[in-house]
Amino acid sequence: MDSNPHYLHAGRLIDGRGGPVLKNRLIEIRNGRIHAIGNAAKLSLPVRARLYDASRATVIPGLIDCHVHLAWASTCDAQMRSRQFFESYATVRHTIAANLEKTLNAGIVAVRDGGDAGGHTLRFKNQDAIADPLIVKAAGRAWHQPGRYGRLIGRTVTPGRTLGQALCARLAAPGVEQPDHIKIVNSGLNSLSAYGRQTAPQFKRDELAEAVRIGEQYRLPVVAHANGAEPVRRCIDAGCRSIEHGYFMGDDNLARMADRRTFWVPTVAPMQAFMDQCKINDPRKEVCRRNIEHQFDQIRRAKQLGVKMALGTDAGANGVAHGRAVINELRLFVQAGLKLEEAIQCATQRAAELLELEGRGMLAPGQAATFLVVPPGPGQLLQNPAKYEALFIAGRRVRGQ
Ligand SMILES: [Zn+2]
Repeated sequence: MDSNPHYLHAGRLIDGRGGPVLKNRLIEIRNGRIHAIGNAAKLSLPVRARLYDASRATVIPGLIDCHVHLAWASTCDAQMRSRQFFESYATVRHTIAANLEKTLNAGIVAVRDGGDAGGHTLRFKNQDAIADPLIVKAAGRAWHQPGRYGRLIGRTVTPGRTLGQALCARLAAPGVEQPDHIKIVNSGLNSLSAYGRQTAPQFKRDELAEAVRIGEQYRLPVVAHANGAEPVRRCIDAGCRSIEHGYFMGDDNLARMADRRTFWVPTVAPMQAFMDQCKINDPRKEVCRRNIEHQFDQIRRAKQLGVKMALGTDAGANGVAHGRAVINELRLFVQAGLKLEEAIQCATQRAAELLELEGRGMLAPGQAATFLVVPPGPGQLLQNPAKYEALFIAGRRVRGQ
């Protein structure tokens, strides 16, 4: 088979738009883009056309993970975890490179990074060679209030300054690496000892709205870590582009998100990973289980309301493996009640829209010829480790036989 085919014959095709599986499709590729998709039974190939035969396989768009922490290894060892958060760039850059390799190996073609204390991922993106053609969008350091959750992923707003003042000072400083988005931490973590216990918001609604306005001046969307009703409500009202986690945000907020076209990245995988690590008699295991059940309820409600959901794994968090976690999160979305095609849409079309990756995330004419060939039935996709035959990016085979 040719590494840069002109045609690909797909036995089954999931195009990323959430619709049903299409059968027996012929994809024509020109200059790295999809030129046309037709019924393979009705089309004949030109003489000497280079064909990739995936007639016994399923073809899906390359996957996108909207929430990762590339600077962290996903180790469960408590000592190693606490040490790695504040390592030097010289050390962390090797972790980032290894995580990017795992990411691409899992069929992931783009990631959005949620931040690290040293801002190392943003620096890596700007200074070291990111494994072309993997796309990385990086926050650098997230913003949080002194004494509140967020130290592991970012920096505090200096006392006496507003969030807007801190942001302006940072973004306007000469020689500063510009991030791809602004990450703001507006709640704590989910309680693992008391089910459903919510934390107070970190910022006022007006402060968040000012941050969104400043972001617009720099063409930077605002990404909000928020759990619980009040922290999430403030972020939606302020115009943040996406809510990360959103545990216990409640129905009113889901309706608000549908109205405002706010994206939601539910990140169930880290809760599942932590639950799996808890010993059988650990009371936190039951809290995790209930947290997941509640998040599943919210995912079903979001689907009913038409909330735009994008897939993010929190890879790098405790026990959440870079690359492989995408399959876990897809499986969890299906467990929550989404069809496989809808779960894949969250990791393709919706994710590309959230990350503003034009011409990505769908298999349709005009889009990049970026796809995964998964053998043989679509159900295989949810197996871990992911088994795929080949990964093509912009028409070029980058992984697989
Ligand atoms: Zn995160």
